[in-house]
Amino acid sequence: MALAFKKRNRSAFTNFLRSKYEMLTAAEKVSTLPYYISLDPSDTCQLLCPTCPTGIENESKKQKNALTTLYRSDRKKLSLELFDSVLEELADQLFLIMFYNYGEPLLNPRLHEFIAKATDRDIATEVHSNLSLPLSDQRIEQLLKRWDWPTQRID
Ligand code: SF4
Repeated sequence: MALAFKKRNRSAFTNFLRSKYEMLTAAEKVSTLPYYISLDPSDTCQLLCPTCPTGIENESKKQKNALTTLYRSDRKKLSLELFDSVLEELADQLFLIMFYNYGEPLLNPRLHEFIAKATDRDIATEVHSNLSLPLSDQRIEQLLKRWDWPTQRID
């Protein structure tokens, strides 16, 4: 497979190689920036998966198990302002943003804007969804409009 990185600035590749070197040499002092990140657009989810902290919390709330579970009180959706500040700090070096962790990304109505902004900065994006929620054709088109699937993983 041919390499087809979206990134064009030389500093991103220099950072990537230096980062790999720091990792392989177990550097105690790290001087590089992340070349990919996982960023959760939504810290909430509608499902109750038993192996996921978010799902366990949802199930516990459903069972009204409040006394035996530590609920997170600060769950929220990623804002455009916070995303912009992440891009401002890291975009030049980022090859990939993975929009998922312990939440359902499609619950954030601004997800398509994050994808568009990342694409504008030559950053590939990935979204993992449980797809267990209604999606209109308009929403699907909105999400896919600026989505360039990465042709080469770099982890
Ligand atoms: S975030 Fe993923 S694993 Fe967790 S409850 Fe939702 S669908 Fe399940």
